[in-house]
Amino acid sequence: MRELTEIDGNPLLDPGLRPRYADIRPEHVEPAVRRIISEQSAQLDALSTAQNPDVAWLAALEAVYEAVNHVWSPVSHLNAVNSSGELRDAYNSCIPLITNFYTDLGQNRALYDRFATLRDNGDATDPVVRQIVRLGLRDFELAGVALEGTARERYKAVMQGLAECQAKFEQNLMDATDAFTHHALSEHEIADIPADIVERAAEFAREKQLDGWLLRLDPPTYQAVMTHASDGNIRETFYRAWNTRASDAGPNAGEWDNGPLIEEILALRREAAELLGFESYAEQSIATKMAKSTDEVVEFLRDLASRSKDFAIEELSRLERLADEPLQPWDIAYFSEQLKESELGLSDEALRPYFPLDGVLKGLFELAERLFEIELVEQTYEQCWNDTVRYYSLRKANGEEIGGLFTDFFARPNKRGGAWMDVCSNHSALGKTRQLPIAHLVCNFSAPFGETPSLLTHNDVVTLFHEFGHSIHHLLTEVEWPSLAGINGVAWDAVELPSQFLENFAYLPEVLDSIGRHYESNESLPPEVMQKLQRSRTFLAGLAMVRQLEFGLFDFLLHSAEDKQSLAQVHALMDKVRNEVAVIYPPQYNRFANSFSHIFAGGYAAGYYSYKWAEVLAADSFAAFQEAGHFDRKTAQHFRASILAVGGSQDAIDAFVAFRGRTPRLEPLLEQSGILPQDINAA
Ligand SMILES: [Zn+2]
Repeated sequence: MRELTEIDGNPLLDPGLRPRYADIRPEHVEPAVRRIISEQSAQLDALSTAQNPDVAWLAALEAVYEAVNHVWSPVSHLNAVNSSGELRDAYNSCIPLITNFYTDLGQNRALYDRFATLRDNGDATDPVVRQIVRLGLRDFELAGVALEGTARERYKAVMQGLAECQAKFEQNLMDATDAFTHHALSEHEIADIPADIVERAAEFAREKQLDGWLLRLDPPTYQAVMTHASDGNIRETFYRAWNTRASDAGPNAGEWDNGPLIEEILALRREAAELLGFESYAEQSIATKMAKSTDEVVEFLRDLASRSKDFAIEELSRLERLADEPLQPWDIAYFSEQLKESELGLSDEALRPYFPLDGVLKGLFELAERLFEIELVEQTYEQCWNDTVRYYSLRKANGEEIGGLFTDFFARPNKRGGAWMDVCSNHSALGKTRQLPIAHLVCNFSAPFGETPSLLTHNDVVTLFHEFGHSIHHLLTEVEWPSLAGINGVAWDAVELPSQFLENFAYLPEVLDSIGRHYESNESLPPEVMQKLQRSRTFLAGLAMVRQLEFGLFDFLLHSAEDKQSLAQVHALMDKVRNEVAVIYPPQYNRFANSFSHIFAGGYAAGYYSYKWAEVLAADSFAAFQEAGHFDRKTAQHFRASILAVGGSQDAIDAFVAFRGRTPRLEPLLEQSGILPQDINAA
């Protein structure tokens, strides 16, 4: 790649807080990354020889992390939301540079020794600093600082290989998802699929000079087909396409196949764990988690499974009675929706007009204001990565700006699936000026179409609340050290606490009243619909529970294996786990693992159980609001101060105990899912 002649014009090197996304070109990426790494490596060399490491020394080290993050965070963000050919190439070409930088940093003994000095000399009395030192020492050890000679070199190569394989896994999945289209020619095939999806498919067909409808495999289309298409054949077509993405089976068999990558990723993780002296990758994963042992995790998952499986079996038989025939996996979502309509009188699609995205956002921001006395104000920002992206300034009641939020809501090609929050900038009060935290909130909702605004299902609303929960965790931090601010340094199995906590509010009548307004008439949701939505929390909750447990247990057992796993063994383990906890058994061609990017490309490896683990914390936290009143300011302030504000500066269990006054209890989650009867006295 050619060097830019004028490197100072490189937008990635602009010191401004908000990235100049619109100006960033693929050719800016590598020069900026090389330059920042070379500058900051020199800085690390200087820090490695410091004689008397103190708090200022530690702050200088944090500035190094921040400087690299300032360049790399926008690049990896763009790679997730606009992963086009050249940008992706530029991103890929920098993975080795970034991985090397962090592995070298993690294995830097001079820095490690200085952390040990800081621990031992007792000067650092600030508890936050002590936590940085403690977690820092742990992370050096987990990065192989103690390794010698060939083991040290090998560890580095393993990290390198892992970073490349994980990136490739995600890219294969994105390409495989984007590549599939289904050309429907008869009305029968598209019957009962929501109109906006059908219209979009007709337009896409016209663009390609085809008759009929051309349907993509983007998340809104996939969901719509599986939930609403009355033609079982088209559901099966989509089920097969979705569940064989990036594999050796299905419509694009062998193209973008993640199978070999799965074997390689598992082998590399196992090798890394072994080099560090762990029995398995799962054991290594637990070293940074709230859970204390691998046994505790497996017991936790199995306990929940044994409590919920009978519920799931009973729910499945209700579905079968309705369908009046044995159900195939591609029938489940469809008949679940039918059952919801017949038992609860609730229809996802009928409710959509009540949840226009803008109205939901307005209501969500009002909730944030009510609970936490904060305000989100939309601001024009010319430098976004897509026309639909918006920027909000986060302010205290007195108008003081404390953070910012980018939103990117709509599904489109070259964008990673799912929904997530990630960090744009970290809060830091170490420099001369305070650096405000900024978050990216990304979803894959249906875009506005023609005159119709983006209309959400209630499930989308819950997703939005979830990601907004992560966002406020990041933004309402009061930790002055970036490495422990917001979600940083929080044990991964506790990080889903604020997100799943906030989901609870999406079911409350008072909240539904403000977020659920018909986009044309401004009518609010009828009270009986609100009650039905509340009841929908426990509707088929057993099936939902065992499905999550299936993923969690598969992931954890897979990473607990002490020897090399072939792809056949991976799929066999999936079958075994299903036999244990699931009640729905997919066809032979199902290759779910090939698209399980949470664990093969993301940070949930031997950590998918975190969703359920943190859901216990979230449900128990919300129970405090049920006791005190859902909008009780004092409880909200207490939650904010004990959980949201402290980030990683306190251990997750201590933060929880500070809020609740006791250790977590499982019962609130079981009550919330209908597995235990609800406490009728709760408000
Ligand atoms: Zn989450």
